[in-house]
Amino acid sequence: MGLKSVDKVLKTDVLVIGGGDTGLRAAIEARDKGANVILLAKGNVPGGASVMAAFIAGGMGEESGTPQEHFEDTILGGGYLSNQKLVRKLVEDIPVRIRELEKWGMLFARDIDTHYIAVREGGHRYPRLVQAAGRGSGNRVPHVLLEQAVNRGVDIHLFIFTTGLVKKDNEVIGATAIDMKTGEFIFVHAKSTILAAGGTSKIYNRGACARLNTGDGFAMALRAGAELANMEFMQYIPLGIINEGSPDGYTLGGTPKAKEGYLINRLGERFMKRHDPVWMEKANRARMTVAIAKEIKEGRGCEKGGVLVDLTRITEN
Ligand SMILES: Cc1cc2nc3c(=O)[nH]c(=O)nc-3n(C[C@H](O)[C@H](O)[C@H](O)COP(=O)(O)OP(=O)(O)OC[C@H]3O[C@@H](n4cnc5c(N)ncnc54)[C@H](O)[C@@H]3O)c2cc1C
Repeated sequence: MGLKSVDKVLKTDVLVIGGGDTGLRAAIEARDKGANVILLAKGNVPGGASVMAAFIAGGMGEESGTPQEHFEDTILGGGYLSNQKLVRKLVEDIPVRIRELEKWGMLFARDIDTHYIAVREGGHRYPRLVQAAGRGSGNRVPHVLLEQAVNRGVDIHLFIFTTGLVKKDNEVIGATAIDMKTGEFIFVHAKSTILAAGGTSKIYNRGACARLNTGDGFAMALRAGAELANMEFMQYIPLGIINEGSPDGYTLGGTPKAKEGYLINRLGERFMKRHDPVWMEKANRARMTVAIAKEIKEGRGCEKGGVLVDLTRITEN
């Protein structure tokens, strides 16, 4: 790339690409280590999937079991395929991060001062999911992180589409981007570049995902010579509501009551009896997704493609 074709050059110690939870938390850490940080985001900040998440698998409730039990349930749920070192780190670190968020002003739902209200996720022995205080409040995490990033002087640029990583002598030295507000072509020169551009969910033709999640980070990394790992492990939230003809849907993943519904195939059978007679509809997402896919593949799916969730037995409370 010739610098002559660039309208603007910015310089920084650390460039963070992405303004969701991952990018914001990385930017905070880099600032705390004394680095100058520029954060570029294709949309608003916070944005991406981070503003859609409802729960954190925190293991903070009084009846949430031990970190070891959380570890075991997660490994079992992943069919022994998960990286156990990372899972260990996750279950041990989450309570620390939740306390950190609280220190930064996040309020979690509690019924008395010390008791987190936790919800049980499919395939877990104990209720471990915690969420922000206030009914229907969704996820406050990215907003709390944004406040911390701004307070620390992270230089945040909105509506900047990063197009590629730039390499010199086999090292990444920054990234090119287009300012979607002005059309300017930008080069950010950085000692370190952190890719936090979210997932790839929008490559599927239907979903309840963030429209910005088009896998740009994966593509940039691949083009720069990185090896992508675990690409076969796309996670689906199996229960959702779709509008006919629309690419957008609504996930029931954040609606614990929905998990009390019965999954029914075209023949009216409660088919989880066949696939997981112990956990039934309370099986983890991976098992439930595989069970639904098998029902459809074997011809027991409904006319419009999916299976049904029978919620008629669920009362408001
Ligand atoms: C509907 C839904 C519900 C979910 N519920 C939960 C839940 O309850 N609990 C849970 O733990 N997880 C949940 N998740 C998953 C969770 O939201 C994600 O794992 C997490 O938010 C990922 O954060 P992130 O910062 O990596 O990516 P995102 O939050 O997706 O952020 C990506 C950022 O990258 C930016 N970006 C993308 N491409 C570019 C580019 N080319 N140039 C510049 N910037 C770019 C975007 O603008 C955005 O700022 C849910 C996901 C969805 C979709």
